[in-house]
Amino acid sequence: MRKRIAAANWKMNLNAEQALALTSELVQITRDEYHGNGEIILAPSFPYLSLVQHLIKDAKGFFLSAQNMHQEEGGAYTGEVAAAMLTSVGATHCILGHSERRQYFGEDEALLAKKTDKALAHGLKPIFCVGETLSEREAGETFSVVERHLSGGLFHLDADQFANVVIAYEPVWAIGTGKTASPAQAQEVHQYLRGLIAARYSAAVADDTSILYGGSVKADNAVELFGQPDIDGGLVGGASLKSREFAEIIKALG
Ligand code: PEP
Repeated sequence: MRKRIAAANWKMNLNAEQALALTSELVQITRDEYHGNGEIILAPSFPYLSLVQHLIKDAKGFFLSAQNMHQEEGGAYTGEVAAAMLTSVGATHCILGHSERRQYFGEDEALLAKKTDKALAHGLKPIFCVGETLSEREAGETFSVVERHLSGGLFHLDADQFANVVIAYEPVWAIGTGKTASPAQAQEVHQYLRGLIAARYSAAVADDTSILYGGSVKADNAVELFGQPDIDGGLVGGASLKSREFAEIIKALG
């Protein structure tokens, strides 16, 4: 059975005090108001991973994610962070291939395939992002772009490895813009992605894969988006920075 997931990508926001306050509020609100089985994944910036882990370690359904990692085991890579460092502070997941990493840091499929391998070798579950830009959508290339991202970054994995991957479909034109893909637009791409996974692995593997939608998810559109048959939750940026708003998104997991 695939998991329902609400993942918070805090990006390069918040100071330590704010990160702690947000985490405490979320733990408290969900303890009081959310009784479902969805997973809640928090992805703070590197300096706050340990702080956040300390607050969520006894909270039901909470997991810790990094926003990025380096593809090498360790060594002379000043300023970088290795997978083993992330697991040593309690991270269980790592976002890989976010469009901001692809756009501003030149990350491509070949690099992301290496990062994926390194994450999995250390028991970290990748939250692997795919998605088209506005011009690609307008040129009718949505399916070919997400296929390239998915197959180039992940399809070298065997089925056992792939079982540890979470996919996030994030149309770039919907990230941080306030423009959300309609539930039907998102469902169409999620269904396509699940079909690709079924063709590469099996229908059972595809059925077990959590595919999250990301792109201006908010409390007031989450229920409809997460109600689509192939949408298993969300990867949430802006709206995850407000505890009440993100708590309502968590509740939309059911
Ligand atoms: C994201 O960065 O992954 C994201 C989906 O951002 P936002 O929710 O702000 O669009």
